[in-house]
Amino acid sequence: ATPISIMVGTGRGATAGVLIKNAEALEIMEKVNTVVVDKTGTLTEGKPTLTTVQAVGNMTEDEVMVLAASIERASEHPLAEAIVAGATEKGLEPQSVEGFTAITGKGVSASVGGHTVLLGNAKLMQENNIDVTDVAITVEEHQRGGETVMYLAADGKLAGMVGVSDPIKVSTPDAIKELHDEGIEVVMLTGDNHNTAAAVAEKLGIDRFEADVLPDQKAAVVKKLQGEGKIVAMAGDGINDAPALAQAHVGIAMGTGTDVAMESAGVTLVKGDLTGIVRARRLSRATMKNIR
Ligand code: ADP
Ligand code: MG
Repeated sequence: ATPISIMVGTGRGATAGVLIKNAEALEIMEKVNTVVVDKTGTLTEGKPTLTTVQAVGNMTEDEVMVLAASIERASEHPLAEAIVAGATEKGLEPQSVEGFTAITGKGVSASVGGHTVLLGNAKLMQENNIDVTDVAITVEEHQRGGETVMYLAADGKLAGMVGVSDPIKVSTPDAIKELHDEGIEVVMLTGDNHNTAAAVAEKLGIDRFEADVLPDQKAAVVKKLQGEGKIVAMAGDGINDAPALAQAHVGIAMGTGTDVAMESAGVTLVKGDLTGIVRARRLSRATMKNIR
């Protein structure tokens, strides 16, 4: 590729909010036939809000909220921010916590007012022998509506659940449609549960997805697809996504996401608008045509 044509291509991209880091990234885009996308913060806004609070047993909803928010004050996860904001909105005062621990891809734990509290997904509850069958039907209903549900356990017993909802970005449906029109397979990856993932995938017409993916497994999924002969672009926004972005033939970071993601990617979509992937492919095609 001539330096001039690369410069023209990357310059045009930059004007349109598609930052292309180097010649390799620009050259490979036209060859991509598989786009792997992270759900939270990539397909969705990544700014969930609290939508459900439910108490189980003799705790009140407010007590469930206080416990949840008290622990989540120490977490930097977007889910944590939604829970803390929800409690603040209800005028609830958080309590101080001790021994905060984040369990990657599963949830958080801490001691609150002398109680051992766990907050997180089904896997976390299972590992700690917390029985969640009482709320199974309610939880599934909320998940099928696209909500992410977290269970709250206090002293070894289920005490409640909280649900948050993360809206799909306005630009996402168009982006998925354009990618499909170009014959590209879209694969969604998420640490979220199967039901919530299925609801989002169905809404967007995404036919292939993997749920309950632990952060360190994302790169392995990309590698597996590459092993099937696919030319893979990976789009993500989080620190968790960085290894997968680096593993892919080309990594695509959201400019609205973390710096680590952008550093690991060959392309950055300044406004986090996924239609930029199709734009980058057009630039790639035009650039390569000039060269050949
Ligand atoms: P994603 O890939 O969707 O960003 P993560 O791998 O960060 O997901 O988390 C996967 C799941 O683990 C979440 O859907 C949630 O159920 C649980 N989880 C992770 N962090 C927290 C937290 N701070 N509080 C509660 N639950 C959490
Ligand atoms: Mg994400």
